[in-house]
Amino acid sequence: MNFSHSNIQNELIYTSRQGVELWLKREDLIHPLVSGNKFRKLKYNLEMAKALDCDTLVTFGGAFSNHIAAVAAAGELYEFKTVGIIRGEELEGKVDDNPTLQFAKKSGMRLKFVSRATYRDKASNAFLMSLNNEFPNAYIIPEGGTNQLAVKGCEEILTDQDALFDVICCPIGTGGTISGLINSASPHQNIIGFPVLKGDFLSSEISKFVQQQNWELLSDYHFGGYAKINVELVTFLNRCYRDFGVKFDPVYTGKMMFGIMDLIAKDYFKPNTKLLAIHTGGLQGVKGMNQKLKHTQLPLINFE
Ligand SMILES: *Cc1c(COP(=O)(O)O)cnc(C)c1O
Repeated sequence: MNFSHSNIQNELIYTSRQGVELWLKREDLIHPLVSGNKFRKLKYNLEMAKALDCDTLVTFGGAFSNHIAAVAAAGELYEFKTVGIIRGEELEGKVDDNPTLQFAKKSGMRLKFVSRATYRDKASNAFLMSLNNEFPNAYIIPEGGTNQLAVKGCEEILTDQDALFDVICCPIGTGGTISGLINSASPHQNIIGFPVLKGDFLSSEISKFVQQQNWELLSDYHFGGYAKINVELVTFLNRCYRDFGVKFDPVYTGKMMFGIMDLIAKDYFKPNTKLLAIHTGGLQGVKGMNQKLKHTQLPLINFE
């Protein structure tokens, strides 16, 4: 997989009065369709799928999943058939109302809708066996794409030059991305993760993939849970676009950025700390979120 990830520069977007610098690593610019950490997580998995002579990628996700969109796009680019197991039978007739699923379908992904109960059991042996029967030559990628090969891909996000940063920040879904960052960070760096869903399963999940101890999770910025949003967050996203000229997505990077700006304002960081925040992409989700926001009293995300 050969995209433009080798020449992405870090951008300084903000300096506080205490001299705290906030830099962004623009992983969102890697590719318009396979953006950010999803490219990193797929890279070695697709190489493995090719090596195993698999012709089909099967994976799992919700109706607005960045991972589903990325696998669909990567399949089309690298000539795999793709199958998406989607949570929620009720979505079956509504594909054309959902920008993520519509995109996946247009990219050639076959969508299979399953009940929430079946979806919950997706890692069970029985379900995986049934998938193997139905798609005999398939490479199965877990939900969110996190596995050992995904972590290996995420170890390539940081470069040698990034050792000058004191703190590395990233949003967390399943923990694969931060695991790669932890493995490739220098011992003097502190890696801070911002979980976007509630729950404490993450620390043990991350511990499976990493050895270093120089990381922490800050769990106060999930805004009530996965894909939950409020007026403060929408206003913040729109202000970031105005002030920094950068689009952040409402599910992951927006929540991380909100957390970072809040921590800077509260003097959480020592003066002159250099922060590097990973812009993990995810902007395909903005359309779907705006569709949902139209049915509420909240303002829309506006990147015009
Ligand atoms: C999937 C995703 C994440 C979460 O990555 P994990 O490896 O699952 O923790 C973060 N940001 C964006 C934009 C994503 O799409």
